[in-house]
Parts: sequence; structure tokens; C-alpha cells
Amino acid sequence: MDAMSKEIPQRLAHGLLPGDWQELCRDLDMPGYRADQIWKGLYQQRISSFQELSTLPADLRAHLDEAVQADPVRLTHVDGKPPGTRKLLLELEDADAVETVLIAAQGRRTVCLSTQAGCKFGCVFCASGQAGFKRNLQAGEIVGQLVAAAREFGDTPTHVVFMGIGEPFDNYDALLTSIRIMNDHDGLNIGARRITISTVGVVPGIERLCTENMQIELSVSLHASNDEARSEIMPINRRYPIDTLVRACAAYTEVSNRIVTFEYTLICGVNDSPECAEELTARLGGFACRVNLIRLNPIDEYEGEACSEATVKMFIDLLHRRGINATYRDSRGRHVNAACGQLRLRAAQNSMHALPEKMTT
Ligand code: SAH
Repeated sequence: MDAMSKEIPQRLAHGLLPGDWQELCRDLDMPGYRADQIWKGLYQQRISSFQELSTLPADLRAHLDEAVQADPVRLTHVDGKPPGTRKLLLELEDADAVETVLIAAQGRRTVCLSTQAGCKFGCVFCASGQAGFKRNLQAGEIVGQLVAAAREFGDTPTHVVFMGIGEPFDNYDALLTSIRIMNDHDGLNIGARRITISTVGVVPGIERLCTENMQIELSVSLHASNDEARSEIMPINRRYPIDTLVRACAAYTEVSNRIVTFEYTLICGVNDSPECAEELTARLGGFACRVNLIRLNPIDEYEGEACSEATVKMFIDLLHRRGINATYRDSRGRHVNAACGQLRLRAAQNSMHALPEKMTT
């Protein structure tokens, strides 16, 4: 059977909003407080079966078991050990896998979530897209990763970054539903300012986010200082060139009061010259933003190499001299192969469930 046509459960517990649970209980002639009990069970107790909710009447538990999938993401593999960075490989109902990275540092428990199984965008340096695109994740599968992470941490995560596999704005509705669920005070209680969406530069997604009236942090994968270079490594740039992208980001800052971060992965001989740094300064000089430099995490499928630490220093010094707020983050996940879909790529190559041909947009 074709993987796309495999049946995916319609209602995933972690994809339902508080109002959905109220409605479900009303339909079953159950009082509203039952919905609150279920909600707290899911997010405070982190149950994996409704049978664990012993305060619920047996017939309600039986009905929920029938109608709702309590725990749709199944932990199959953990790379790394506490207190270091860990990477969880989670299997979905249709046997595809997603990965979630946990980073514990400076009193924060950060979870890096995936929004799609695979990716369509084909950035040449990124492993996530190399195995092709399979499907969007449902909101319940996105929040399910967070619940799996909370179990692994033994505590509720404090921060969420959408920097795992896939493009968040290519799965906009599920993304926003998942954020509303994780925001809830009686649930995971993760405030908008502690959530970061990272985008490859899908301008309509940024424009839509401008209308949500939420103070979510926005991070944009820029990785080049001119359109020619960016289009070579990130095909999306042909559709939404740098100036259009930067304008959308400035509009987001205007409405949300959030400072946008531009991610810039330094690739030896591709985007790491002093001229590139000057060009970047000229491009971003107009509004308050931040540049975060990363060194390329080399992958087998791309010949590019990481630049030296000396080049990072030259580049960041130049940005600082020009008044750009720039930081340098060494990839914390490097030792668990966590940067960008590499574990899934490996899993997919070894798996019997072959992924479809790479898709292009
Ligand atoms: N699709 C979103 C979310 C992915 S986030 C986006 O593009 O922003 C993953 C981040 O890691 C992105 O900034 C991506 O460009 C970067 N990245 C991907 N592969 C990398 C690699 N090999 N080395 C360093 N950074 C990489």
C-alpha cells in the first residue's frame, strides 16, 4: 500500500484545543469539568493511555480509547545522555519518523520540534530535505513531540524552537494550533515569547503571523548576503528574494515588537568573506534585528565545509564594527548529530519504508 494512503487517525489527543474537549464532553453528556481533568491528565500527568485517568468514569475512558488516539508518537530511539543534548527519534502512526532535540542549559529546557516528515525546500546544505518530503505533521503530532520531551526531561520544557525537520510555515494551520495548545496555562504553559519559529523564508507565512497578534519569536534562515548566492544554496530565494524577505521581517517587528534573528551559517568560500559581511550589513542595516552566526555542520550529501574559528571571528567583528547585533552559536547538538535531520536521514536509508522521490517547489 502507498504510504500516503495509509490511514492516519483523525483525532489525536494532543491536537485538540480546550474548546474541542468541552465539545466532546458535551456530546457525551458529560460535565465540562471532565474536559479539564482530561487536559490536566494529558499535560500535567502526561498520561499515555486514558485508562490512567482513574478519576474518569469507566464508560468515558472506554469511549475516549475508541475515539481519540492518546499517544500518537512513539519513542523508538534516544541519542545522547542527560544532562547533555539528546535527540529523540519518534515513530508516527504510519511508521514514518520525526526527530526532536532536547537541550538543557542555563536552567532552560529547550525542545526543538519538527513540523513535517521530510522537507520540500531543498537547501543544499541541509540533510532534512535530502530524503524528500513525506507529509505534514498534524498538530497532535507536533505537541506529541513536546509531551515526549517532557517525559524524557521528567519536567515541563521551558522553551520551544521550531528548528527540527520541515518548514513550519509550510504547515501553517497545524503550527498555529500546536502553539495555542502549548500556550495554555493549565497545560504545558509555554508563553509565546518562549517559542521561536524558524523559517526558510516563506514570506506569506511571515505576513500571516503578523495578523495573529502573538508575540512569537521569529528566526529566519538567511545564510547569504546577496540573491545570487542565496538562490544557489536555498531555492526558495528565487521565489522570495532577500529584500522582500527583509521587508516582511521588518513588518513583523513593527506589529509584534519582537526582534527578528537572521541565522547565517558560514560555509567556507561560499558566504564567509569580508565582502559578504559588508554586504550583509548593508542589507540589514535598516532595522533592529539580530544576526546569529553558525558554522556549517558538514553533511555527506554536500561538499561545503565549515569555515575556521578565525573566519567566524573576522566576520563577527566586522558586523559588530558596523553596529549589527551579532552572536555566534556553536551547534550544541553537533555531538549527537542533532543539527538538521541527519538521524532521520540515516533511519530512512536503513528503513523498509522507502521515502518518495525528492519534491521541488
Ligand atoms: N525550515 C526551517 C526550520 C529548520 S531550522 C528553516 O529553514 O529555518 C534548522 C536550521 O538549521 C536552519 O537555519 C537551517 O538552515 C540550518 N541548517 C540546516 N542544515 C545545516 C547544516 N548542515 N549546518 C548548519 N546549519 C544547518
